[in-house]
Amino acid sequence: MVEATKMMEEETKLHIGISEEESMQQLRSKATELLLREEWKDSIEAYSNFITLCKKQIFHTHLHSDNQLQKLRKSLCLAFSNRAEARSRLREFQSALEDCDSALEIDGTHLKTLICKGKILLNLNVYSMALDCFRLALLDPQANGNSENLNGYVEKCKKLDFLSRTGALDLSDWVSNGFRGKCPELAEFVGSCVQIKRSEISGRGLFATKNIDAGTLVLVTKAIAMERSILGGKDLSEEAQLVMWKNFIDKVSDFIRKCHRTGNLISKLSSGEDEEMLEVPDIALFKPETGENKNKKSSDSENEKVDMGKLLSILDVNSLTEDAVSANVLGNKSNDFYGVGLWLLPSFINHSCCPNSRRLHVGDYLILHASKDIKAGEEITFAYFDPLSPLHKRKEMSMTWGIQCRCKRCKFESEMLSKQEMKEIEIGIERGMDVGGAVYKLEEEMKRWKVRGKEKGYVRASFWAAYSEVYRSDRCMKRWGRRIPAMEAVVYSIIEVMGGDERLLKIVMEEMKKNGGGLVEMEKALKLARDVYGKVVKKQAMRALLELCVATND
Ligand SMILES: [Zn+2]
Repeated sequence: MVEATKMMEEETKLHIGISEEESMQQLRSKATELLLREEWKDSIEAYSNFITLCKKQIFHTHLHSDNQLQKLRKSLCLAFSNRAEARSRLREFQSALEDCDSALEIDGTHLKTLICKGKILLNLNVYSMALDCFRLALLDPQANGNSENLNGYVEKCKKLDFLSRTGALDLSDWVSNGFRGKCPELAEFVGSCVQIKRSEISGRGLFATKNIDAGTLVLVTKAIAMERSILGGKDLSEEAQLVMWKNFIDKVSDFIRKCHRTGNLISKLSSGEDEEMLEVPDIALFKPETGENKNKKSSDSENEKVDMGKLLSILDVNSLTEDAVSANVLGNKSNDFYGVGLWLLPSFINHSCCPNSRRLHVGDYLILHASKDIKAGEEITFAYFDPLSPLHKRKEMSMTWGIQCRCKRCKFESEMLSKQEMKEIEIGIERGMDVGGAVYKLEEEMKRWKVRGKEKGYVRASFWAAYSEVYRSDRCMKRWGRRIPAMEAVVYSIIEVMGGDERLLKIVMEEMKKNGGGLVEMEKALKLARDVYGKVVKKQAMRALLELCVATND
């Protein structure tokens, strides 16, 4: 009797064992099939069910022989690995990484997982850790058939890791080839020359920790999300703008949903309220190597939720358009795109009418460089709106940006332009008075009021439209040329206060072409081009950029 019960129990156990094994088999083949069919969502679900079952089986270890246990663990490892693959295809990188780590906990050298993890880390710009994964994968004897591919990844990681440590970008080939072919691979980089601090301009700002030479790259960073629209030669209609904005918001929300760390970082951005109360985050949080994966569990628990209302305010305050006066877009030949994006660290940069940095957009990357020499301790700024415009225009623009510019230049000009004589010149220009005469009067007034040094640059920048019209007109120059300062003197006095600007470079180049400038002039123009575009290309390619600058319309 006892024996019989025991036998029956054994049989039941065996029976359950078999049926569970069968259903596991079925689940597994279903999941694999879905994976092969690239039905990522369903395959993730199937693997999840399989993983639950498999874990349950392993938990009842007393039911299995060592051999069976080994088999189960192997299946579990593969299931984690495959689920990671499916999740990474959906760009759910954070959960995919967790799956990779679960698989590697079971088998630390699991080839497929190592490759999958390496690719995910590359996507997350964590280059040196990605490199570790591919190197380890290469050691696997099974990697032989795949070694060429793996070596390619190893080389790519090395290159990007170097870039992210040095910021030593070189876009020369791509530029020289007229931007044909794919745009070069860039790596995120945050120079050791910057930190985030409380700013006197507003809230928090980015500051130089050491002297930065003009042209030096300060940071290279990839957009959290970007949305582009084709202009087709026209301005975007209101409807098209709304659609674009909605798509952009969707993309950012999607990113936050998939990556808690990014959500956390976005929540640290200003929503335009209580600027002075905001904490000053450590810049290390924004560096590429402070990985997604490190401390992921702790960051999960402290994850700050960004509600939709707050997110909309944050995007409203911090989104940048590629097509801005302080930016250049490389590789978009037609100039027929209008792109909006969110970049984390650049969101901390405040506006100044005497900016010292500019942006370059390459694909989804934003490259920030010093557009003039910056001293240690100085705040890094770029212009949110055109600094080559008069004070009243800048005040209008400030309003639409919801800021109040209190820069030295605005302060000085508020005083200077309140003088009756200056007002008369401004009104005169608006009413179409001879620009040569206006510029002559301006210079005379500046002499009379003993405007010196930088202050001259402030006034000239504000009246740049009049100055450039005079210098471009032979008729004007014939009449006024001898009585007003030379174009170069004016241009460089403006550059001294507001750094390189494409329009200033353009007029210098035009003059050079007209006069058949020599080596000295060319060197000067190249130096100016570095202020405008940053040190991203070698000399020869910089000449190509100069040609491009001359060819663009104002
Ligand atoms: Zn200002």
